Amino acid sequence: MTEQPTAVLMLSLGGTIAMTGGAGGVVPTLTAEDLIAAVPGAADTGIDVQVQTFCQLPSASLRLDDLTALAALIAERTTTGDVDGVVITQGTDTIEETAYLLDLLHGGDAPIVVTGAMRNPTQAGADGPANVLAAIHTAASPTARGLGALVVFADEIHAARYVRKTHSTSGGTFRSPNAGPLGRVVEGAVRLLAYPPHRLTVPLAAVTRTPRVGLHTVTVGDDGALLAGAENLDGLVVAGFGVGHVPQLLINQLTALAATIPVVLTSRIGAGPVLEATYAFPGSESDLRQRGLIGAGFLDSYKARILLHTLLAAGADHDIIAAGFAAAGGTGEPAHWPWAQHP
Ligand code: ASP
Repeated sequence: MTEQPTAVLMLSLGGTIAMTGGAGGVVPTLTAEDLIAAVPGAADTGIDVQVQTFCQLPSASLRLDDLTALAALIAERTTTGDVDGVVITQGTDTIEETAYLLDLLHGGDAPIVVTGAMRNPTQAGADGPANVLAAIHTAASPTARGLGALVVFADEIHAARYVRKTHSTSGGTFRSPNAGPLGRVVEGAVRLLAYPPHRLTVPLAAVTRTPRVGLHTVTVGDDGALLAGAENLDGLVVAGFGVGHVPQLLINQLTALAATIPVVLTSRIGAGPVLEATYAFPGSESDLRQRGLIGAGFLDSYKARILLHTLLAAGADHDIIAAGFAAAGGTGEPAHWPWAQHP
């Protein structure tokens, strides 16, 4: 009996990796077929790469309901067993958000590997082909099974829940400030150096709405004017100073908001946790918690916004949202995650 080759589905969404153009600048033009055709050595891997152009957008224009549809497509293709892993190519600007949303909505074992490029195909040293090849190797690897969504870039493997874009132009822009990379792709093989402690997912079937979740980053001298109208949102993430602090002027508004919608407290720094009980001044982390804000632990503000979006999309109430943030933020018991966990 001949063994079936490992099959990987590659879905392209646009982004710099798929952009071409002239002196005026580049725009997304390349299809998934074009992207795979440009990868030297792809045919020699023995991996059956099936390709589909999902959309051709700059990643700034990706929408959350389209990404939920993408998660549904991935679920369909990976549960029927015809593909062993999935590669997503997209713009790097929003990879940290897309990958985490896909991670939350993916209950299966097939790896979802998100990648892109910092240099477009018309530039010297374009990094797209190398990133795609490393992503294909990872998506096909038994070692990556069960790890949820990953970001593979510059041969590093990052967990979707930890990764951030940290530089606007560097090819090594993706970092996981709180955890480091999970591993590396070396000579086409996945070499894991660390293992994430647990996987927390939300069943796709529970997702029934597209909530509107805002993000307010506090700044020195912030008088709260930009929070006007926030009561019309379904939820709000506040990116506070340091360990979770806001100007005193904002506390009445935030207290009123937290009484009607979930308000999640993160740090605008993007690394390290918000605290719980170290400072006690008005506008401190402990004051804000007493006023009903929910701490996001180690989740940065962009991840927290995706988590709050997903929990609200699944109809979670305030207590479930608080339990979800404690589990996903790394400050509470994973056992309190509202849905079944993966081993
Ligand atoms: N500069 C972006 C990229 O790296 C553009 C985008 O996110 O679509 O792909």
